[in-house]
Parts: sequence; structure tokens; C-alpha cells
Amino acid sequence: KSVEIVETTLSGSLQSKHDQFQRRMDIEFHLRKAITNEEFHLVYQPVVDVYTNRIVGLESLIRWDNASLGQVPPCDFIPVAEESGLIHEIGEWVLREACTQSMKWQEAGLPHLFMAVNLSRRQFNDSGLSAMIQKILEETGLQPKYLELEITESMSMDVNLAADALSQLKKLGVRVAMDDFGTGYSSLGYLKDFPIDKLKIDQSFIKGLKHREVNAAIVNTVITMAKNLNLLVVAEGLETEEELQVLRDCGCRFVQGYYFSKPVLAESIEHMLNADTRNKPNRIVI
Ligand code: C2E
Ligand code: MG
Ligand code: MG
Ligand code: MG
Repeated sequence: KSVEIVETTLSGSLQSKHDQFQRRMDIEFHLRKAITNEEFHLVYQPVVDVYTNRIVGLESLIRWDNASLGQVPPCDFIPVAEESGLIHEIGEWVLREACTQSMKWQEAGLPHLFMAVNLSRRQFNDSGLSAMIQKILEETGLQPKYLELEITESMSMDVNLAADALSQLKKLGVRVAMDDFGTGYSSLGYLKDFPIDKLKIDQSFIKGLKHREVNAAIVNTVITMAKNLNLLVVAEGLETEEELQVLRDCGCRFVQGYYFSKPVLAESIEHMLNADTRNKPNRIVI
């Protein structure tokens, strides 16, 4: 009887390994044609200044709709794009699309906001990255000060290489933000060595802020530290009024999360910005 059970669990887990492998292969197969087939689009999530209640910037987030796979979330296909090297092409597409959209809004007379774009580790390690970004800025006409690049700390980052790559980016005049701050392994070391402008406190620290004293203590400390280091701070994943209250008490000025808005299509951002401008025409903050 017990042998039987072992066998079924074993074959069960082999089956699921096989399924995972198959899914990965399917994703890679379809990902190769996704750009040419125009299967990607971007959604944008507002970053809000809670002192003024105004949108100060946007984070662009990629979405993929494939005819056979359906909607595949970025956490499923970005790792595949990284491993297969497709991330270079996809990353360039995202940057061009985000900068183009940002320029369109500026030209339409909407408030000039910053546009944040996520970079994956493999893109960050690419020696051609800053040249590619410069090319896109020139092509689209977006001023570098409006572009913000989000990088995630990770264990396998070589500190010297990463510091070099970051200073190259900084020379372009773009801003650099550390995404998912607090989830990596040597955040403090990076802060010392890297020329970054902003910390994005990971959403896991914001969840249930009111009832989790440890989280509140961490968030408070990160905000104080960022102020002392002259870094901007954004709290990610704000979902409730209660969390917002705690963040206000901690002196957190910039937030992003479902509480204000989910990531939405460009048209919806336009509506929000138009309403925003009509309400308080002279109080646009970048
Ligand atoms: P991220 O850069 O940390 O982005 C924040 C993620 O949290 C987004 O998920 C967003 O939809 C979600 N989020 C925002 N507010 C809330 C909230 O209040 N509650 C909850 N539960 N979630 C919230 P998304 O769009 O699925 O992206 C996941 C990750 O995939 C991103 O994390 C980023 O690391 C990566 N990613 C997305 N787009 C791109 C891209 O264009 N390029 C690269 N390299 N990575 C991307
Ligand atoms: Mg991000
Ligand atoms: Mg991230
Ligand atoms: Mg994040």
C-alpha cells in the first residue's frame, strides 16, 4: 500500500515537472513571434503624491495576449525571456513604446510626468544598454529627465559591473530607482555603492501595515534612511485607506497601488490626467 502511494506521488510530481517544462517551451515558442505579431501592449500605473493628491509619474508594465496561451502574466514570461535572450528585443520594445507614449502625452499638453520602465537583470548586464536607451531617447525626443529606470537588486549582481552600468545610465540624465527594495540581500551595500535616485519599498512591507508592527517599523526606518541619503521613496502596493494612514504618519509622500489605481490602458490615463489638470491647473509636481 505505502509503495503504491510513493509511486503515485512520484509520478505526480514528475508529471507536474513535465507540465512545467512543456509550459515553458510553449511560452518560449510563442514569445519568439510576439513582437512581430503585435501581441504586447503596455499598461500604466499612476504614482501619486499624497500631499497634493496628484499623479506625478507612471510605471509602465508589459502585458501579453497570445492567441493560444491567452493572457500570460509578466512573472511567467519575463523569466523565459531572460533565459532565452529574447528580453533584449522585448526590453527595447517596451522602452520605445513607453517613451513614445510619454512624448505623445506631453505633446497633447498633458502634465509632464516621469515614466518608469522596468529593466530586467539580463538587460542591465548588457554592455549596449545605455547606447540603446540613448538611441530611443533621441528617436522619440523624450527628455532624459522624464525617464526612470527600475532595477531590482539581486544576489548575482557583480557590484563593480553594476556600479559601472549605473553610472553610464546616470550620464544619460535618466533617473534610476531600486525596485522591490527590501527583498534582496544586500540593499544597504548597494545604497553605498550605487548612484541611485529612488527606493521603491516592496509591496510585501505595505500589506496590512496597520496590523503588522514589524512592517511599520521597517517602512518607517527605510523612509528615514532614504531622507538622510537624499533619496526619493515610493511605497508600492498600497491597497487600503488604513495602509495610507500609516504611510502618511511615516512621512511617505509618494505611493503606488490599487488604492489609487490599477495599471490601466493609455486611454484611461489620459482621462485621469485631463480631470487632474482641470481640477488644479497650477499644481503639477514632477
Ligand atoms: P514590479 O515592477 O514590482 O511591478 C509592480 C507589480 O505589482 C505589477 O505587477 C503591478 O500590477 C502590481 N501591483 C501594483 N499595485 C498593486 C497593489 O496594490 N496590489 C497588488 N497585489 N499588486 C499591485 P505586474 O504588472 O504583474 O508585474 C510583475 C512584475 O513583472 C513587475 O514587478 C516587474 O518586475 C515585471 N515586469 C512587468 N513589466 C515589465 C517590463 O516591461 N519589463 C521587465 N523587465 N519586467 C517587467
Ligand atoms: Mg517596477
Ligand atoms: Mg520588479
Ligand atoms: Mg516592485
